[in-house]
Amino acid sequence: MGDASSASSAFRPQQPLPATQLHAKASPDFAAKLAETQALLQRAAADFQPLTQASSLGAEDVVITHLINALQLNIPVFVLETGALHRETLALLERTEAHSRTPVRVLRPQHEAVIEFVRREGQDAMYQSIELRKACCGVRKMEPLGRALAGQKAWVTGLRREQSNARAEVPLTDTSELATKGLTKFNPLANWTWGDVWHYISENKVDYNPLHDQFYPSIGCAPCTRAISLGEDFRAGRWWWESEDAKECGLHVKKQA
Ligand code: SF4
Repeated sequence: MGDASSASSAFRPQQPLPATQLHAKASPDFAAKLAETQALLQRAAADFQPLTQASSLGAEDVVITHLINALQLNIPVFVLETGALHRETLALLERTEAHSRTPVRVLRPQHEAVIEFVRREGQDAMYQSIELRKACCGVRKMEPLGRALAGQKAWVTGLRREQSNARAEVPLTDTSELATKGLTKFNPLANWTWGDVWHYISENKVDYNPLHDQFYPSIGCAPCTRAISLGEDFRAGRWWWESEDAKECGLHVKKQA
């Protein structure tokens, strides 16, 4: 007769490997990419004040915040706390606020606007139509984003070319918002691979969202993010009920000519 502990362990679901073990794999030219990223952040901090980092607390953003802190750059960070984030993300936000050298500013949506939207359209409005989903993003993300960027000369994001077709041409320095919003956008990880991001996190023991260990490569609000399966696209877990082209919340959407 088998022992009870080995019998029960046979049926225990396997613990997934940490994302650091699964994904960390530096590109052959990683050292050059890292140097380029550091130089870009230093130049941005020197020449584009005031500027700020937009952080969703995802893997790319924790790398950038870590670099800002390590290089002691004058680049405060802001986080949009939409009121619909996972508890794991909120816990990481608390830890980031406690440990970051650079200031972390948390922006929340206007309480009355959220109450009014939910009362009018319902708690699950985002699943009903793209318009309602974008309206929810408008109230919970876009309005606070406008406040975060008011008066800024530039912002720093974690966009990478590899993330999606819509981001395949992301430049390191994006001046396309200069005429309309007066903002330069820096994407210091534009050339990095997913393996590079996790290599940096692993090497530098950067604190990260444990949802990444549960197959959430891209993390947004809880109702609009799910884990992905083997072979699915990087952003397949975001707004998964919509077509690929619609999958941006407005933060990084370019107007069509
Ligand atoms: S991601 Fe979802 S919950 Fe978050 S603001 Fe957009 S629609 Fe609303």
